[in-house]
Amino acid sequence: MKVELLQHSSLEVCAHAIRTCWQSFDNSDDGGEKDKDLINRVGNKFKHSSTLEHLTYTFYISGVSRALLQELARHRMASPSVKSTRYTLKELKDEETFTDGLSAQELLEKYNNPQEVYADKHMQIASKYLVWTNELIVDYASLVALENLRLILLQGIGNDKAKFCLPESYKTELTWTINARSLQNFINLRSGKSALWEIRDLANNIFESLPEDHKYLFESSLNDIK
Ligand SMILES: Cc1cc2nc3c(=O)[nH]c(=O)nc-3n(C[C@H](O)[C@H](O)[C@H](O)COP(=O)(O)OP(=O)(O)OC[C@H]3O[C@@H](n4cnc5c(N)ncnc54)[C@H](O)[C@@H]3O)c2cc1C
Repeated sequence: MKVELLQHSSLEVCAHAIRTCWQSFDNSDDGGEKDKDLINRVGNKFKHSSTLEHLTYTFYISGVSRALLQELARHRMASPSVKSTRYTLKELKDEETFTDGLSAQELLEKYNNPQEVYADKHMQIASKYLVWTNELIVDYASLVALENLRLILLQGIGNDKAKFCLPESYKTELTWTINARSLQNFINLRSGKSALWEIRDLANNIFESLPEDHKYLFESSLNDIK
């Protein structure tokens, strides 16, 4: 998984929005410690949380599964623009076989040394398309599903129908824009042990990719991760 912060608004803008309420613009220190303290006091402690909506972040998130995408999409207070399988599935047509015709069980019987398995040429190429769980029987089942999909595409079946047999592990990417209020909610819900491991990793990576001077707004939302 890769998370890249493409753009973010400045703390100064958020402080300006807060100062609008009191017309206290003269107290601004241009996004410095006074403004940071003001944002935390008003946005977090006084629960005037809508002021945090003036802070927005846009991330480019890649190498995550469609299983994760499904969970991410439940966060309504964010805007995702997602790689379309409809337009991009043809990427599989140029690949050679992922399984040499073996079933998941046959693969398990033939190759069961995890270190060798994930270094294998087929697995290396498949890892461009699939997120591994490191549970071999699960990953082999994904591999077979990927091979089935490739064969279906080679038969000339259109993407709009072929996509219905995509494994949930199929990798996707998206541009995701979210404001600070909603991001606090996301990190709070998704960084805990009860969240799916992959979205927990994402919450961690998103936190790490934030500008250093913005992290203080999200530290208390973190659960179990550092
Ligand atoms: C551990 C875990 C397990 C989960 N398991 C399941 C599951 O089994 N099945 C399932 O369907 N989902 C599941 N979810 C998803 C969960 O129900 C939420 O849809 C998801 O976490 C998004 O949270 P949210 O609504 O707070 O976020 P957002 O949609 O971003 O909303 C942000 C906030 O806006 C407010 N808001 C948004 N929409 C409304 C509204 N219509 N009315 C009132 N207030 C609103 C709420 O305060 C909300 O917290 C799970 C989530 C977690 C963290």
